[in-house]
Amino acid sequence: IKIKITNIDIPVAFASAFEGEIIRRKDMQVEFDGSRVDCAELVHTCDASEVEDHKITVVGPEVDDMELGSKNSIAYVVKVAGKNMQPDFEPVIERKFHNYINCIEGVYHTGQRDMQRIRISKDAFAAGFKIKHIGEVLYTQVKNEFDAVVDKCEVIIYTDPAECTRIRHEVAIPIFEKRDDRLNTLTDESVDVYYSCILCQAFSPSHVCVVTPERLGLCGAVSWLDAKATNELDPNGPCQVITKERPIDENLGSYEDVDEAVKKLSQGALEHVTLYSIMQDPMTSCGCFECICGIEPFSNGVVIANREYAGMTPLGMTFSEMASMTGGGVQTPGFMGHGKHFISSKKFMKAEGGIERIVWMPKELKEFVAERLNKTANELYGIENFTDMIGDETIATDPETLVGFLTEKGHPALALDPMM
Ligand code: SF4
Ligand code: ZN
Repeated sequence: IKIKITNIDIPVAFASAFEGEIIRRKDMQVEFDGSRVDCAELVHTCDASEVEDHKITVVGPEVDDMELGSKNSIAYVVKVAGKNMQPDFEPVIERKFHNYINCIEGVYHTGQRDMQRIRISKDAFAAGFKIKHIGEVLYTQVKNEFDAVVDKCEVIIYTDPAECTRIRHEVAIPIFEKRDDRLNTLTDESVDVYYSCILCQAFSPSHVCVVTPERLGLCGAVSWLDAKATNELDPNGPCQVITKERPIDENLGSYEDVDEAVKKLSQGALEHVTLYSIMQDPMTSCGCFECICGIEPFSNGVVIANREYAGMTPLGMTFSEMASMTGGGVQTPGFMGHGKHFISSKKFMKAEGGIERIVWMPKELKEFVAERLNKTANELYGIENFTDMIGDETIATDPETLVGFLTEKGHPALALDPMM
């Protein structure tokens, strides 16, 4: 018999009412920021003999040892064991961490994988909240919500920076890459159904992601396989099956089935959503997109900025400025939040011509996607080393210099029809 734990042993409240709570810089004791230092969150399936149930270990400094207002590393590994547990369920459990940690009074969480950001408020700290309590929350919630598959659970939280670097680069990233590779053989045409995800409605009440094999959730953490596993674990949960039997326009990626699902799941806020266009009924964005793309009128192309990039883009806007006009679950034609892996997808704004519209990306992002993007460009248009034609902040941060560079490289976007 499994018993639900109703009372979590932490010094502050735990309730969904705190989920949308934002902690401003002046109110925060400390923060952890995966976009600036090494962080990770990971569920790891183990043999029952390797897991000591309810053991919570902190490796490194506690909050008391961290300077007020400081930015720190954090990596937590949640070891689980159970005879019905499958590694396919790991990312599904991981994605719930966002929700669990956010329900803690005075603690804020955003992002996922190795890009999470956590803030602990001064009030929570004063009440005695410590790193180990994050472990307590993860343990309790994983045991409660995934009792069908998790029999034993142990949490190790690293705050030691060297250990966080090791966990992130040697353990977490190789696992994330392996998961992403599993998807490479699937296409939107090769599957019978897509999935919805509404996990982010706590923050963006009308936001719905439609997840397909070639278009992962904009957070980057929910692939079609993850959505499928989520649906298997909880058929009434955040991911629902969307059939694709009634296509309206295959080029736009519009379906009557998708429109119906989105209308229902957004409580009527959205009527039409296309899968492959950023101009016509684009998918909405919540707040946790890994990247934003926006049209750059001088080159007929799009600029992409990722969350980690703090500098200026040729649109005259930073990532944050682009984000402020894109989020909140509303459709903003010409701007769209998306996952990093969507950049190399054959379905990336396919309706507007596809990846050959990409004219600028931060250098780091360009390097991250280069291998996959170059492969796609070669397959779609026969272009070799496409990323060499794409500008970055070392080449241009204004449209004039960018267009000069694109002209010199013979970038294909210049010859395409304007997008608006
Ligand atoms: Fe789900 Fe989309 Fe939120 Fe990711 S961004 S958790 S896919 S709703
Ligand atoms: Zn979101």
